[in-house]
Amino acid sequence: MEIVAYPDPILREKAEPVRNIDRDIQDLIEIMGELMYGAPGIGLAANQVGVAKQIFVFDLDYREKGKSLNVLINPTIVSAEDRIEFEEGCLSVPDFLAKTTRRKYIKVKGLDRKGEPIDMEAEGLLAICIQHEIDHLNGTLILDHVSRLKRNLYTKRIEKLMKRDRDR
Ligand SMILES: [Zn+2]
Repeated sequence: MEIVAYPDPILREKAEPVRNIDRDIQDLIEIMGELMYGAPGIGLAANQVGVAKQIFVFDLDYREKGKSLNVLINPTIVSAEDRIEFEEGCLSVPDFLAKTTRRKYIKVKGLDRKGEPIDMEAEGLLAICIQHEIDHLNGTLILDHVSRLKRNLYTKRIEKLMKRDRDR
């Protein structure tokens, strides 16, 4: 498994809720953790490894590899307050930064990897990270947070790179 990049169509798929947190899901979580720390990044959604299921992993202390791998399954944002601007990157959208406006405080619920309910509050970078990953599960990318012009320029740049790789 590897991290897939734009314009892979799986990144545009709406992820399905996880019904059974079985062995396969545990394995998937392990792999996602390894890929996230290896990248390195602070969050990774299942779509980004080619699986359209509602799971993401995150860890703001990604340098402390694996010490506190957080997992959220079937997440929902239950409330959100205030706004915060940020410049976000994405492991699936290489060499691109998008200025985004996110909610500053959120409450989110979901399940942990044992299937136990999680209710958590997040603010600042953690809140931004969680909103970014939930975007992925809905098929939304940071490219959707910028102007059409900026998005088109990036798409053209990627197409050119892909063509160059093909022609090589
Ligand atoms: Zn991302």
